[in-house]
Amino acid sequence: MTEENVFFEENKKNLNFIEVFVEKDLAEGKNNGQVQTRFPPEPNGYLHIGHAKAICIDFGIAQKYGGICNLRFDDTNPTKEDTEYVDAILEDIRWLGFRWENVYYASDYFRQLWDFAVELIKADKAYIDEQSSEQIAQQKGTPTQAGMHSPFRNRPVEESLTLFQKMNSGEIPEGAMVLRAKIDMASPNMHFRDPIIYRVVHTPHHRTGADWKAYPMYDFAHGQSDYFEGVTHSICTLEFEVHRPLYDWFIDELKKIHPEDGAYRPRQFEFNRLSLTYTIMSKRKLLQLVKEGLVSGWDDPRMPTLCGLRRRGYTPASIHKFIDKIGYTKFDGIIDYALLEHSIREDLNAKAKRVSAVLDPVKLIITNYPKGKTEMMEAVNNPEDESTGTHEIAFTRELFIEREDFMEEAPKKYFRLTPGQEVRLKNAYIIRCTGFKKDEEENVIEIYAEYDPQTKSGMPESNRKVKGTLHWVSVEHSISAEVRLYDRLFLVENPGEGKDTDFRDQLNPESLKILSNCRLEKELADVVPFENFQFQRLGYFNVDPDSTKEKPVFNRTVSLKDSWSRIIKNEKE
Ligand code: ATP
Ligand code: MG
Repeated sequence: MTEENVFFEENKKNLNFIEVFVEKDLAEGKNNGQVQTRFPPEPNGYLHIGHAKAICIDFGIAQKYGGICNLRFDDTNPTKEDTEYVDAILEDIRWLGFRWENVYYASDYFRQLWDFAVELIKADKAYIDEQSSEQIAQQKGTPTQAGMHSPFRNRPVEESLTLFQKMNSGEIPEGAMVLRAKIDMASPNMHFRDPIIYRVVHTPHHRTGADWKAYPMYDFAHGQSDYFEGVTHSICTLEFEVHRPLYDWFIDELKKIHPEDGAYRPRQFEFNRLSLTYTIMSKRKLLQLVKEGLVSGWDDPRMPTLCGLRRRGYTPASIHKFIDKIGYTKFDGIIDYALLEHSIREDLNAKAKRVSAVLDPVKLIITNYPKGKTEMMEAVNNPEDESTGTHEIAFTRELFIEREDFMEEAPKKYFRLTPGQEVRLKNAYIIRCTGFKKDEEENVIEIYAEYDPQTKSGMPESNRKVKGTLHWVSVEHSISAEVRLYDRLFLVENPGEGKDTDFRDQLNPESLKILSNCRLEKELADVVPFENFQFQRLGYFNVDPDSTKEKPVFNRTVSLKDSWSRIIKNEKE
């Protein structure tokens, strides 16, 4: 199908281009009408939001077309891999709401891959090269200039077979020799210039231990694993587009050995990888942040990892919304971080319970309100969803309000509390500020006001116009808590971009602020980790797993509005 045709079909049915291809394959009865995909993470780090994009299409295609999706750990590099990562990956995929059919490991195929490599050697399509990787690289040529043949290229098959055995027995030191496919040193596709397909690694493997010393390279393991499993649509990111001819070459060779497989063959499809502003997506760099203690761990709420986003208060639904919005194309680009934030705001706006929390408390005394009196005020749980009902919040003579909601001398357009001015206390009364008290260091320590009993929310008089509405909690009926305010991890849109730029120098020093003296309404006394709330006027917050009954800890997931410039339209709050 031509690009134009694909585009046309896509628009017609509102399908992404991969779905268009799958529907075409199904219509043509390819692979007996089966759809099988896989998600192939390398267990060398935690999954991030970019992986979520791959997961959603791999599992999504299988779901949509009645097929299956398997999980395959691409564990061909023992020096970087670990079972800790395997477990985390399983948890994160489950959290996103997907269920795999089987869990496979590329290492399960080491024997089959080895046998295939032996077949290639026997067919004179692979040879052992004893040059160093530098020498091999020097002979590669350039895209416009053919490479040079290795002096080992035409060694006898028997010799290569013997040396291949030795590569695996431990007799050969790392780097001393490799197995290369014998294809075409003049190919315009650099990946065809006798690619290395096996190397020696002496580090024990996290699953196969010391059984193997010769390890297949990615290009040799990936397509073949697809083939052994029966994958029909092998979906990956655009950088693998140039590998596809090699992928197909190996499949062709495999099919020669397996005529019993009939017309079956896997095909690779590539989509644009996700890049986001103000963060990094390289596992190597994320690992560096963790190892150097620049964040608290893989699940630090500032990390773009799925466990970090979860701890930050992101919901699976918000991630799905985000992935739906960005879509799948053939063009690489960079997505504004604000779009991710928009997705969680949208989701929590619909779902999160509204509560009152004062992050930087200062005392407000309603001097004409009776001492010892408590009124239970009605607070709406979520104006977006009436079915969630209301809860009660205690109103008393002594309250806490935000320090920044009071000014001793205010400019004209200041609609919060200042001497002589009226404001409404949310769900309660209109009050007028009558004075304040300072300590020796000129800090305001108490603010005084009088309330108007006729203005209780819901009373006819309560329609009186005042410009500002403040949130508050009762001194006596509130609990104290720690609140962690997070901001973007990096100060620049494209961390690490440019020669001589170290991404670590571009970390945002203000990305975490800990407020340990916050006051929350009693409603929040029995929360459980990961619960989401809207703290009125402040943003969306969730309960951190560090939280205890004695000391609740909340994370700011996102503020109510985008404070980082580029504005997203139709913002509801
Ligand atoms: P590394 O950072 O170590 O190169 P990787 O990001 O490619 O690794 P893998 O574990 O190999 O991570 O990736 C598993 C799958 O997720 C692959 O199919 C890969 O194409 C996809 N993937 C990885 N990063 C992104 C991304 N930013 N956007 C979309 N898909 C991604
Ligand atoms: Mg990879």
